[in-house]
Amino acid sequence: RSSEGPPKEHQIVVCVRKRPLRRKEVEARELDVVSIPSKDMLVVHEPRKHVNLVKFLDNHSFRFDYVFDEDCSNATVYEFTARPLIRHIFEGGMATCFAYGQTGSGKTHTMGGQFVGRQQSSLGGIYAMATNDVFGNLASPAYASLKLSVSCSFFEIYGSRVYDLLRPGKPQLRVLEDGNQQVQVVGLTENPVKKTADVLALLELGNSVRTSGQTSANSKSSRSHAVFQIALRSSTNERLHGKFSLIDLAGNERGADNSSADRLTRLEGSEINKSLLVLKECIRALGRQSAHLPFRGSKLTQVLRDSFIGGKKVKTCMIATISPGLHSVEHTLNTLRYADRVKEL
Ligand code: ADP
Ligand code: MG
Repeated sequence: RSSEGPPKEHQIVVCVRKRPLRRKEVEARELDVVSIPSKDMLVVHEPRKHVNLVKFLDNHSFRFDYVFDEDCSNATVYEFTARPLIRHIFEGGMATCFAYGQTGSGKTHTMGGQFVGRQQSSLGGIYAMATNDVFGNLASPAYASLKLSVSCSFFEIYGSRVYDLLRPGKPQLRVLEDGNQQVQVVGLTENPVKKTADVLALLELGNSVRTSGQTSANSKSSRSHAVFQIALRSSTNERLHGKFSLIDLAGNERGADNSSADRLTRLEGSEINKSLLVLKECIRALGRQSAHLPFRGSKLTQVLRDSFIGGKKVKTCMIATISPGLHSVEHTLNTLRYADRVKEL
């Protein structure tokens, strides 16, 4: 390795967030099997049985850029994950931030904001905090001369279909790739925003559309990827300056779920598995500076293509969310192994 030149910039940041045991879990005396001995280390204590039936703990250690314990707030998580990427998009780069994990592990809580009662408060989520900082930068002397304007999009990928969450009726959108390999989501709403209140209104609209018409609020949203995008464009010629995509991924627990009797559910499951697999390969290729990115392998990576290879500088961040309970230990280990694989070496 050459000792010349500036140190390599961190392109991929991978961190883990452990949520607290929920009240129901505490009441059921669920064991917390995840310990966090330092800010970048995490240990999963997996109970096992030997052939001779002696019980023991199998301890799996992992190291990440950051590990957030159950006492960390959304604001702290934001500070170390998405926030450093805001500057990057102002400098003309592309950024992505993914929340990855099992359903119920805290992806939506982290990205979209926490639930207060039955109401989701977008104000405390990463989507809102990121846009808030974008407005802050916009007004700062360092960037004012760029004359940028901000717009937001919010869409959902369900199977291989894309739906606009910012239009009534949640219309399905077509994804087209032109001769220059530019991918376009045709007709996607780009809503101009001027202040945080505008963004909160959009998030509220999108969230209500995302979950409407369902009996169980989490069942359908856990099977789709939600993509919230903040685009910076030149106010004079509309040219894209930088873009931040924040993604609340579909639950990753489908791996073992081929027991489902419902054929559609199984098909959806394999589609989700495929998209998460392809995403992993794309991020790994990014880290290795590989020229070949298999982004066409799934709708998710296809629509995010310009955020991976667009001739602009690319940065990405993954927040792997985990449940602390013994009953989730298999899923937790799967999540951590996945996150471990996308780490920059
Ligand atoms: P997911 O989107 O991954 O399915 P949710 O974000 O909906 O999971 O979280 C599941 C439940 O756990 C919600 O009731 C949420 O409020 C709660 N929760 C998740 N993460 C945290 C956290 N860090 N602190 C407190 N409660 C959390
Ligand atoms: Mg969710």
